[in-house]
Amino acid sequence: MNKNEKASGSLIKIIGISLVLIFLTGIGVMASSARVTNVKIILSNDYEMTVLTTKTRVADILEENHITLTAEEITIPSLELEIAENRTIRIVNKEDGITEIAEVEAVITAEEILSSYGTITEKLVTEQVVIPFETITKEATGQGTKQNRIVQNGKDGLKEVTYKIKYQNEIEIEKTEISSKIIKEPVNKIVEVRTIQITSRSAGERKATTNPAVTASTTLAKKVEGITPTVKTFNTSAYCSCAKCCGKTNGITASGAKASAWYTVAAGKGYKLGTVIYIPALKDKPNGGWFVVQDRGGAISNSKLDVYMDSHSSALKYGRKNVEAYIYEF
Ligand SMILES: [Zn+2]
Repeated sequence: MNKNEKASGSLIKIIGISLVLIFLTGIGVMASSARVTNVKIILSNDYEMTVLTTKTRVADILEENHITLTAEEITIPSLELEIAENRTIRIVNKEDGITEIAEVEAVITAEEILSSYGTITEKLVTEQVVIPFETITKEATGQGTKQNRIVQNGKDGLKEVTYKIKYQNEIEIEKTEISSKIIKEPVNKIVEVRTIQITSRSAGERKATTNPAVTASTTLAKKVEGITPTVKTFNTSAYCSCAKCCGKTNGITASGAKASAWYTVAAGKGYKLGTVIYIPALKDKPNGGWFVVQDRGGAISNSKLDVYMDSHSSALKYGRKNVEAYIYEF
């Protein structure tokens, strides 16, 4: 700070204090308004003059002395105020004036900050922080029935972080990470995501106009006589209990029962186990064409049926056929 700044600094303080005192002394001054006093007027070009006046309001004093402000000028104290105790009116350029007033406030603010500045203490603190694992998804390829499969379970990691914490009046005001050390690396969770094409089971299904169970004589037909069937064309194939067809050879179906030829049929999940199926195209077979949904299969959607057969060769011989089937659900 140079000399000039120091000087203007103290002047600003005086003005600041004066502004406050106006309010304290205003009433007293008004009461003794008939008194003649000296008032110093400092113009914006630093020219000083002293005038004698009985007036106390800044605007009145200026008017009495034929002093007019330009659009750029303002007074300290302002026009509407009573003259301050130091009996000085300063006319300044607006911009300078605002700067000076702002500086007055700045001084007060800085002092306020200083007075509120408690003791600041610093501490180094080491904390263990969990590093959450990330989940990574991978597109699955090939056939499969599971939509999402967890390939690897995720595990959180752990790190030791050293912070510098600043306290003021025992309240934490700043926390800065200084260093960190990984104790345990996190393990990513890996999920294989497969897009499964779901065929709606109702696709192509319609109400039957006849009920073949009424005229059929098999036990299964008798059982479902009272049920109104729906009709749908299925893409059918055949399978046996061999490893090629089932990946296992015990012949146990999804229902838990052992598969039987001309009885067991595998259907998509849209059809409950136990659903009775009549395939007119197979009405000359030993079962008269009446089957029960007992099995499932990875490749069997709601638009497919897989007829169980005794041998792999007969399954192969059946091949693939689009046939109409009646569905009895209960
Ligand atoms: Zn087979």
